[in-house]
Amino acid sequence: MTADSLELGPIRPPSEANSLLIRVTRNCPWNRCKFCHIYKGQKFELRTVEEIKQDILTAKAIQDKIKEIALKSGYGNRVETVAAAILSSPLNEAYFNVALWLYHGGTSAFLQDANSLIMKTSDLVEVLKFLKQTLPAITRVTSYGRSKTAAKKTLEELIQLREAGLSRLHIGLESGYDPVLKYMDKGVTAAEHIAGGKKIVASGISLSEYVLLGPGGKGMWREHATETARVLGEIDPDFIRVRTLTIKPGMPLYDEVKNGNFIRATDEEIIEEERVFIENLNCHANLVSDHITNLLQEIEGKLPGDKENMLAVIARFQSLSPEERQNFKVGRRLGVYERLDDLASAPKHDMVEQAIKRFSQDGREVDEDIIYSLMERFI
Ligand code: SF4
Repeated sequence: MTADSLELGPIRPPSEANSLLIRVTRNCPWNRCKFCHIYKGQKFELRTVEEIKQDILTAKAIQDKIKEIALKSGYGNRVETVAAAILSSPLNEAYFNVALWLYHGGTSAFLQDANSLIMKTSDLVEVLKFLKQTLPAITRVTSYGRSKTAAKKTLEELIQLREAGLSRLHIGLESGYDPVLKYMDKGVTAAEHIAGGKKIVASGISLSEYVLLGPGGKGMWREHATETARVLGEIDPDFIRVRTLTIKPGMPLYDEVKNGNFIRATDEEIIEEERVFIENLNCHANLVSDHITNLLQEIEGKLPGDKENMLAVIARFQSLSPEERQNFKVGRRLGVYERLDDLASAPKHDMVEQAIKRFSQDGREVDEDIIYSLMERFI
């Protein structure tokens, strides 16, 4: 490895797109969830504290070079200008990562991969402290974690992590209904989700819980919606982030669909599931739909005050004629529409009608499998 390379993991949440990425573990220690293909076939490994510190020093060295270029080029403290130039032709992934972070202000970092909480608390504390000492402009540090691992930490350990600089944990709740969690092999129960989530909230670390729409399929959707709302009501996280189930080759769920063990809910059934979910939510979280897979990405707001507005978006969709609902679904899955108001654009509407003619046998009904595959192109 050269002095200017960093080891990077494959993903980060969309909300961390502009954060400095520091990989603290490799892959997922659980790696069994049926709906997830990200780390399948990859072995979980802890990185040593020394390896992680070396990457932090490398990030600092790249940052210092960019700052020096800015000074020498007469841009003074305006590092964004140099960062933008580097982004257009970065030397490697490490330069891209650091330049993107600096371009966006250089104040947040995300610790990769799937469950940083699995590190020994003292090691993670050491990494956090070193990160903040080495790059003092960073004021916000976030990471992925699992509820079960959080539940096993003591409250004092989580407080130590917050005091060392851990600002937010992103947790994949997915469902609060035990039969769905079991079927999906999530490796956690609703009770463990509650225990882990409540402990994180009590520690003062901000908590972002990810919820899946659709993991109950056609059989368990209602219980999934109501129980997930109940569990989130008990945890009362800061954020609820909604994603729609996608199924791709490489996921165990892909084979379950092929062999008929899992019957997918349609887009419209999932919207009804989302309606029941939101109707039953009693908490103070910000609900965010920051994912391209969500049919109605405009469903966002702060609970409880915005609940009626969010339900009104769903009611508006559900009150459209079947033809208009289909036009919206296809347009959304093609990336033509972002929100329901886009239906009013005649050129966009016509473009989608042309696509519907191509996709459908009879010029009217588009098969759900085509709609799923259009959605899954984005993932
Ligand atoms: S815990 Fe997260 S990363 Fe690991 S298999 Fe499950 S969904 Fe994927």
